[in-house]
Amino acid sequence: MAFERNRIDRRVIDDLRNRSTMGMYFYMAITVLVLLVDDFYERHPVFSIIFFSVMMGIAVFRIGHYYLFEKVDQWNRRANYILFFTSVYATAIAWGLGFAYCMIQPDQSAMTKMLMLTCTAGLGAGGMVAFIPARVLSITYVFLMAAPAIIAMGYLRIDLPFVFLFILWVFYMSIIAIRGNREYWTALENEHLLMLKSEEIEKMSRKDSLTGLYNRKHFDDIFHMHFKTAARSGINLSLIIGDIDHFKPINDTYGHLAGDAYLASIAKILSGTFQRETDFIARYGGEEFVILLLDQDISETRRLVEEARLQIEKLRFQYYSHRIQTTMSFGIAAGVPGLDDNRDKLFEKADKALYRAKSTGRNRIVVYDEG
Ligand code: GH3
Ligand code: MG
Ligand code: MG
Repeated sequence: MAFERNRIDRRVIDDLRNRSTMGMYFYMAITVLVLLVDDFYERHPVFSIIFFSVMMGIAVFRIGHYYLFEKVDQWNRRANYILFFTSVYATAIAWGLGFAYCMIQPDQSAMTKMLMLTCTAGLGAGGMVAFIPARVLSITYVFLMAAPAIIAMGYLRIDLPFVFLFILWVFYMSIIAIRGNREYWTALENEHLLMLKSEEIEKMSRKDSLTGLYNRKHFDDIFHMHFKTAARSGINLSLIIGDIDHFKPINDTYGHLAGDAYLASIAKILSGTFQRETDFIARYGGEEFVILLLDQDISETRRLVEEARLQIEKLRFQYYSHRIQTTMSFGIAAGVPGLDDNRDKLFEKADKALYRAKSTGRNRIVVYDEG
């Protein structure tokens, strides 16, 4: 999927959750602290009960939701996201209202005010950093924490320097949120690009650059896998080794580049012949190719190889003013492998069959015969 900045997907939601949920333990501890200091709860019992219940309720909900996120997600992803964002906004609104209430009480102790100011600044900054992946949330969070107090204190003209300080604080936090958000998404984009690059490199490491076929290293892996599959499922596995006849003279006569182009055209013929999804073709090395066919009976295998052999025999490959023509020999070994069989044995059989094809005149197919 193409990378899109600021798209809030599951990965970003997880980042938001992981970054912010720890903070809920602090909210719980600080709520208790603020209510206990200077007997605040005795002077404001109704507010204390409400504030305590709401903050504890939100904190317990958010921590619980963090651990149950996977389960709720399976039930309804959209509802899950709404629960997360709503509970986050509720945290900021509840704290912001409590903060405003504390700051405007005429009989408020200096210690409680100090505590509320420093805690709000700290919790707000913490929330801003935690929600940096979602810019709007990050800024809104800070705003919701400070706005009720700014409005109430400004309206009642209480501690105006603090009002200005908090207005500045919201601006300052917003600037950091925007910068941090940009950095977060750049890092995420780089991570995405790196993943694409490593996928590409991984793909390239399996391919032969000249022919576009798979290379010998990948053949070894697939041979191992197909051999096991065939043995376990009791199905036939055919291994074909093809070697171009008299290829060296092509290089010697027309040059190495002409030889390269001819190799690529042979690869094309083989790819056009063996087209089933499970057919596997690789360039084994030099002018040798290997083909693996799963669950294909020997007569059909032979027919397909014969088709490729004929096409190659008929091919008059034009390379600039030169017309290149040669043939190819094939050795085939096939059978249902036993669970304890060694795949090297199958390779040796196909190689022996190829040798026989070469030594008996080339341009032919030899199937390894156990007898
Ligand atoms: P035979 O019929 O016995 O197979 O004869 P041959 O000439 O095909 O066999 P030999 O193994 O003697 O020659 C293979 C040649 O393939 C030698 C080498 O120069 C050439 N070759 C190997 N890799 C490449 C390649 O990547 N590009 C080109 N152009 N030639 C290659
Ligand atoms: Mg060879
Ligand atoms: Mg050869």
